[in-house]
Amino acid sequence: MTDIIRTINTRDPGEKEFHQAVQEVIESIKPVLDQNPQYRQEAVLDRIVEPERITTFRVPWLDDQGNVRVNRGFNIEMSSAIGPYKGALRYHPSVNQSILKFLAFEQTFKNALTTLPLGGGASGSDFEPKGKSDDEVMRFCQSFMAELFHHIGANTDIPAPDIGVGAREIGYLFGMFKKLSNEFTGALTGKGINWGGSLIRPQAAGYGCVYFAAEMLATRNIGLEGQTCLVSGSGNVAQHTAEKLVELGARVVTLSDSSGYIYDAGGIDRDKLAYVKHLKNIRRGRIKDYAEKYPSTVYTNADYSLDYNPLWSHRAVCAFPCATQNEINDKDAYNLINNNIKLVCEGASMPCTPEAVDIFLERNVLFASGKAANAGGVAVSGLELVQNSMRLNWMGEEVDKRLQIIMKDIHNTCLGAAEQYGTPGNYVNGANIAGFVKVVEAMLDQGLV
Ligand code: NDP
Repeated sequence: MTDIIRTINTRDPGEKEFHQAVQEVIESIKPVLDQNPQYRQEAVLDRIVEPERITTFRVPWLDDQGNVRVNRGFNIEMSSAIGPYKGALRYHPSVNQSILKFLAFEQTFKNALTTLPLGGGASGSDFEPKGKSDDEVMRFCQSFMAELFHHIGANTDIPAPDIGVGAREIGYLFGMFKKLSNEFTGALTGKGINWGGSLIRPQAAGYGCVYFAAEMLATRNIGLEGQTCLVSGSGNVAQHTAEKLVELGARVVTLSDSSGYIYDAGGIDRDKLAYVKHLKNIRRGRIKDYAEKYPSTVYTNADYSLDYNPLWSHRAVCAFPCATQNEINDKDAYNLINNNIKLVCEGASMPCTPEAVDIFLERNVLFASGKAANAGGVAVSGLELVQNSMRLNWMGEEVDKRLQIIMKDIHNTCLGAAEQYGTPGNYVNGANIAGFVKVVEAMLDQGLV
């Protein structure tokens, strides 16, 4: 175990997701540290794993029955080396300091890869929006923002949608931010298109993930057209990953939520996807309803007592885990490989366990970590901020074109860094190394702060 892993294990015992995210980066950057002794002398690792600031706060709110409810809010400001803190805002019962520190840590390197001047952060709460009325969600968001607004701002810290936070939540949060700060600035991204949002922002993480996958496949002369693809999740990233795959002629056969998954052998086409969007974004229903609407589909309940997820046992060429962290383990990895998988592209943040990643790399499966593959979300958030400060809106085509260029650049940057440090074709190492070097060089330029 390296010194830094020992330090974080001792200092923050129990933060297993954070430890996992740090471990992955540490393994990749060993050759960089060996070639740059000043990084060790300047203790950059000790500095980079310690958030610049953490705030936790009480979020009291009233439910529809008039009961007082209390949740816990967090804001992690991990690194401002290359720009204002920017990252995921997540509402999910599992949210704790470890999960948000892992997101903020990953985000720091992801943002560096986008070429945009954005630091890394994350915020959120253990609030569960599922099953709450719009009024309850609004009251919660307003209470959450009553504290968060002290910490965020267009030049300070800019939260963005993540699990459980979509257009509705960003709307309520922004409304309260504007009221409290008395200014209309881009302190949140994912805003509505009529009031400061960017076209293609909702689609960006999913579309970007598919653009990245297409670049990876092209290195082996494989196209997406006609390929069978497994997608997990049915939220923002999953919907838009599936949408772009369908547009490019691939056959998407699965989607899921935390209750179960659907397998549609005939393929989920545009019309079926429109149904999923309405089901999930408007009716806020469960993916099970898809199987009632399209009876040739097979629905399987989630069984968390199993040590594998049957979604990953179907025959396919590409897999896009787009739901949550650690949703593909070693057993799932072998099931995918035994069923012909050629590419695994992480739409979600850290959806594959370290054991699964090692198996993919050993078996020469094209594998991209979320840090690189889902960076399209934050990239277009960055473009939203540019449009906000210019006070104009670009056309959707313009944003999409920029997104494609950014994803291609990230792909090439990852390949270049992996090659330079002796692991050609290893996108995990490439993403970690390129992101790390950029952040660390900025830290060194700015002195011991
Ligand atoms: P959404 O809330 O829109 O969708 C999340 C999906 O994942 C839902 O289908 C949800 O099911 C499922 N899910 C969530 N938690 C679990 C769980 N513990 N077990 C099983 N299924 C689960 O979130 P997003 O699509 O925005 O985010 C998904 C992933 O993508 C996250 O890892 C996020 O960090 C990452 N990401 C998101 C970006 C964005 O722009 N939104 C950008 C970059 C990365 P259910 O409804 O039942 O909870």
